Amino acid sequence: MPKFLSIVLLVLLLGVNIGSVNAHSQNNEYHFTVKAGDSLSKYFTKLGLSKRLLANLLSANPKNQQLNQLKVGEKLTIQLHTSRRFKSLNYQPYGKPKLNIALVGTRFIDTSKPIKKNTSPLSTTIVTITSAFGSDGQQAGLSLNTINTVVEALSWQLDFGTDLHKGDRFYIVSDGSKQPVGIIYKGGNKRIEAFLHRNKKGQTHYYNRYGYGLNASFLKAPLKYKRISSKFQLKRYHPILKTYRPHRAVDYAAAHGTPVWAAADGIVKLKGWKGALGKAVIIQHGADYTTVYAHLSNYARNLKKGKTVKKGQVIGYVGSTGRSTGAHLHYEIRHKGERKNPLTYKLPKQKKVSREELWQFRSQVNRVLSSL
Ligand SMILES: [Zn+2]
Repeated sequence: MPKFLSIVLLVLLLGVNIGSVNAHSQNNEYHFTVKAGDSLSKYFTKLGLSKRLLANLLSANPKNQQLNQLKVGEKLTIQLHTSRRFKSLNYQPYGKPKLNIALVGTRFIDTSKPIKKNTSPLSTTIVTITSAFGSDGQQAGLSLNTINTVVEALSWQLDFGTDLHKGDRFYIVSDGSKQPVGIIYKGGNKRIEAFLHRNKKGQTHYYNRYGYGLNASFLKAPLKYKRISSKFQLKRYHPILKTYRPHRAVDYAAAHGTPVWAAADGIVKLKGWKGALGKAVIIQHGADYTTVYAHLSNYARNLKKGKTVKKGQVIGYVGSTGRSTGAHLHYEIRHKGERKNPLTYKLPKQKKVSREELWQFRSQVNRVLSSL
């Protein structure tokens, strides 16, 4: 049976060849030495990583394009999380600087550059709530400035008037400069973190540990509407009152029962009947913004005053309660109490730490967290 044997041998050889990516692994770290015909795509497939992830990695930074031209003999390491998700990649091209890439949240960042070490020592002030953050903070030795900074940084996520309970804690981490470098709130089953970052232009802002700003962005419109039935205008003939009155809102005509969404993350300030507005919901977004949703037929089942809502969460349903001539949503945006035109007003965008600065930011985050 020499023919049979040779087929078996051939199949075995092919089998070895097809699967023969030259890799050895340790602690979810896979070391590859590039062989003829190898590509990053081949390594990704072998590790069960998606083509889409690969495409994202390659397009994340022009520098990553060199991963399309691996040369025989070069070394490449891919690290996975224990969950088999991609963690990082190290590549040593011939005659070129080493390339290190890490996946942080959903973003690929270049970790090749050495990190500037910030060596000023960190100190933490712990504020334990007994009555209110302001007085407890002062008691703990925080300046009024710092107290205001903390309130402003966390106000999109936390209502300092209603959310705090006895025993809740704030960890205010300082490196001696004016603004705290880290603010961590722990209460009940809620934890909020804010980390300071100073960008290249010298502007400072607080972000979560992934580098996203704590202020939420706003939806363009808080529902799927048929048409805009009334725009923001200072003089509008009112069909019921038969007079001209300002309409500092947008009316969206929509079918009765159409779900209405929270325009941004926030805290429910009002859920109830409000005169001409009928059944209404008012949501507070950070210190300066509120949104108003009126003439609702009903509220979302779990909606409660004082509770946080997420952007896009259903808060109620279109109706015609209050002073209204037909099913529509009356929607207002107020900035520091003043009604703004929701169709044209420039709302805050969610900030992000830039890609180039993210690695440095992340190392600062780790430094703050490990100092606690
Ligand atoms: Zn209206």
